[in-house]
Amino acid sequence: MLAASVSENLLVSYPVPKNTDHPIKILTVEKTRYLSAQDFAEAFGIRTYYRKESGKIVLFFEKNKIKLTANNSFLMFDAQVFQMPGPAVLIDEQIFVPAVSFLTLVKQNTLPELQYAISPTAETIYVNENRIDHFSRAKTPGGKVAGISDLTSIRFEEKANGVAIRIKAPGTFTDSDFSTFFKGEDWLYLTIYGANCDSATLSSIFPTNSFQKVVAIPTGSSVQIGFQLNRQFKSADVHFDMRTNDILLSLFLPLNRDIKRKIEEAKTAWIIDTIVLDPGHGGKDPGTPGRWGYMHEKDIVLDVALRVGKLLEKNRKIKVVYTRKTDVFIPIWKRSEIANQADGKLFISLHVNATKNISNAEGLEFYLLRPGRSEEAIKIAETENSVIHLEDDADKLKYQGYDDITNILANMVHSTNMKDSELLASLHSRNFTQMVAQKNRGVKQAGFYVLVGADMPKLLCELGYNTNKEEAKKLNNPKHRQKMAEAIYKSILEFKELSDKTISG
Ligand SMILES: [Zn+2]
Repeated sequence: MLAASVSENLLVSYPVPKNTDHPIKILTVEKTRYLSAQDFAEAFGIRTYYRKESGKIVLFFEKNKIKLTANNSFLMFDAQVFQMPGPAVLIDEQIFVPAVSFLTLVKQNTLPELQYAISPTAETIYVNENRIDHFSRAKTPGGKVAGISDLTSIRFEEKANGVAIRIKAPGTFTDSDFSTFFKGEDWLYLTIYGANCDSATLSSIFPTNSFQKVVAIPTGSSVQIGFQLNRQFKSADVHFDMRTNDILLSLFLPLNRDIKRKIEEAKTAWIIDTIVLDPGHGGKDPGTPGRWGYMHEKDIVLDVALRVGKLLEKNRKIKVVYTRKTDVFIPIWKRSEIANQADGKLFISLHVNATKNISNAEGLEFYLLRPGRSEEAIKIAETENSVIHLEDDADKLKYQGYDDITNILANMVHSTNMKDSELLASLHSRNFTQMVAQKNRGVKQAGFYVLVGADMPKLLCELGYNTNKEEAKKLNNPKHRQKMAEAIYKSILEFKELSDKTISG
């Protein structure tokens, strides 16, 4: 459905990108050029927050942030909303955004020094000023570079969400030749550099009802066109339309209620509102068996999960989803599927550790999904993963490739979840140290199957060793388990607060 034509790159001449080896992909989709937001961020070393599963990305510029959502033509610049000529689209796990309006917005509001051009060649990768020069001369032979274009006409088109104004000129322009500003609610001024006009001709054009009058003033090297407004517009966007060779000025009306609601929906999709609690094992799979008459792993972790859920459910803004609430067997793959289907924003898997025989080994561990580094971490992951032997043959098939390091790495490529998972782990580790009387072995990493599929920040907690008599005793004490639940609860709330602030603040 998306017929991308020749691949193109965005060439930025100023400011010099931090990462000049990184091409900024441009795709042409139905005649509109789209730019990869990830590439743009990467080239400039701009931090991002990306949720692949919901198709959302935030770009953190030095002073501002821009939020984009796939299939949504509204872009949020800090707390302001802008409408783009088309929706952002998700292609190959990258968010592509209508290039010209995005770049114009960035230039006008946060990177005023931005100078760019779009390269028609497929292989131009890196950016330096000489090449840009060469490119722009080659691109506009005898056009604007040679002289100044005469603006010949202005046409107005009223649309449902505003007005499109097309200005004809024989030359070609780049978007850096334009600037607009509102003066109060009555006037909008558009300046076109490298243009001239006959003031009387352009000023006498009769606009639509949205305008009182038009005043065009040539200054020699530029033209300023003033539009006196009969109604209030929210924003303006100007770019050179390569298809028609027009200068296209779009004025947007304030948003109606329907659109406002859509924006609210887009905002809340980021909020940490659904927590998935995954008590490990269950049913025919006891996990680490209880000794000395103590509970099995499956019962300890279910009890802790229910306690965490009970605390969370008091908060009306949070929905709790359990992979199991009773003593039933759930295949590992099913657990992340439950999490993804519930559109979970956090996944927390609870387990209890063991050594081969009774031993003194003790302590809490918080695991991130990464190929295990230490022998020990690999062993623990193997033990937890071995549950799949109890699963049906059909279930087992689902894990093909799970062991593969490249698979685990691929799962981490979109590293925003990983950064969030690290934060989640460190909050847990800190709160357990403060609230739970148990040795804390800290944050580690291993290839747990149960973490592979969940497409959200995720963490696996090993709540201690059931093979250590002292620790097993603690795990069997309801008061102790309540403390654990409170530490997890506090960590989730802290994570939510930090994360929600990043999104809406
Ligand atoms: Zn386990």
